[in-house]
Amino acid sequence: MPVKRSPDRPSLGFLQRQRFGGWVWLHCTNPRCGRSRPVALAPFIIRWGPDTSSDALRRNALCLACGGRGANLILPSWRDSAVGHTPFPVAALSPLDDAKWQHRRS
Ligand SMILES: [Zn+2]
Repeated sequence: MPVKRSPDRPSLGFLQRQRFGGWVWLHCTNPRCGRSRPVALAPFIIRWGPDTSSDALRRNALCLACGGRGANLILPSWRDSAVGHTPFPVAALSPLDDAKWQHRRS
């Protein structure tokens, strides 16, 4: 299936090349859930290709905490000139967390 790109949304490859470390927060769009999770972009680029719109990730993120599909992408914040952007929060991950989120194309 051809990949449709939204002209106003950056591709996954574009996001990967930015200086914030190749990861983003996925924030569940269900207002009663609001769960957030850090994810590396690389697995999605491997699966879907670097030219795929980041909308694919927005649309297809599945939150198994609430069962909702769809997430907002939030870029890592700037910490300071010594650290740069906030590094990937490895401590926020656990095997249980990994099991609660799935990402797939519809
Ligand atoms: Zn959720």
